[in-house]
Amino acid sequence: MKAVRLHAFHAQPVIDEVPEPTVGEPLDVIVKIGGAGVCRTDLHIIEGQWDAAMGTPLPYILGHENAGWVHQVGSGVTNVAVGDTVILHPTPTCGLCRACRAGDDMHCVAAEFPGLSRDGGMAEYLRTSARACVKLDPRTRPADVAALADAQHTVVGDGGQVDAVRDLTGGAGANVVLDFVAEQGAEQDGFAMTGRAGSYFVIGYGGQLQIPTLDIISTERNIIGNIVGTYNDLAELMVLAQTGRVTLHTRTYPMEAVADAFADLDAGRVRGHRRANGQGTAFQ
Ligand SMILES: [Zn+2]
Ligand SMILES: [Zn+2]
Repeated sequence: MKAVRLHAFHAQPVIDEVPEPTVGEPLDVIVKIGGAGVCRTDLHIIEGQWDAAMGTPLPYILGHENAGWVHQVGSGVTNVAVGDTVILHPTPTCGLCRACRAGDDMHCVAAEFPGLSRDGGMAEYLRTSARACVKLDPRTRPADVAALADAQHTVVGDGGQVDAVRDLTGGAGANVVLDFVAEQGAEQDGFAMTGRAGSYFVIGYGGQLQIPTLDIISTERNIIGNIVGTYNDLAELMVLAQTGRVTLHTRTYPMEAVADAFADLDAGRVRGHRRANGQGTAFQ
């Protein structure tokens, strides 16, 4: 099959011919990809930012925001069947650890992260698990929703936003700031516009926060990290999407144009890409 693989950091991924994934474990599900979101995280992976945390051997297939149709299932899979339309929670999880039992999918002790820790979905097929599959209305076009798989996100404009927020709040600052950028200076602005006892949520990433600890204790501001969301968050988001209450501005690219998708995202030519991590979509 064709797949978009990263061979070296600071170099564009390339389209390779690779073997199709196969069912290994009883709960494995092979999905025929209908859409794979292109995300700033992919740009950060190419920059090598995830290498220390993941150490994933190169080359591997990118793509952590995936939707498509069930192609093949392991012997223990009962919740989806071949042909079902599905969106995939980004991390196949074990279901047995304390985090899984609390529904806290992102902190499963045995989680994999296709597209970051092993082969992802910018390919014709992806191996995931039964636990990661959210079944969709069969009329759903996977490419229209794929980027929502990793959608936690909102706000933060550019230029003068700290003053704007202070003006809007009578000088107090915001109670809650959701920073979908958190790099190139947005991280300092995001904390600066957070009011006393307020919470600054870091959702985008790539920058560095430099904050005197005195400022943190004297104002009792909270700094909170976020990654992806739970399986239930994704299932509920799909209900909102399928009833038209959440819509995604998506531009689709054929897999052969994946370099254009990355370039457009990097250059800010994809509408809304600074407000939600994944807005462009690559698919074959
Ligand atoms: Zn993403
Ligand atoms: Zn687990």
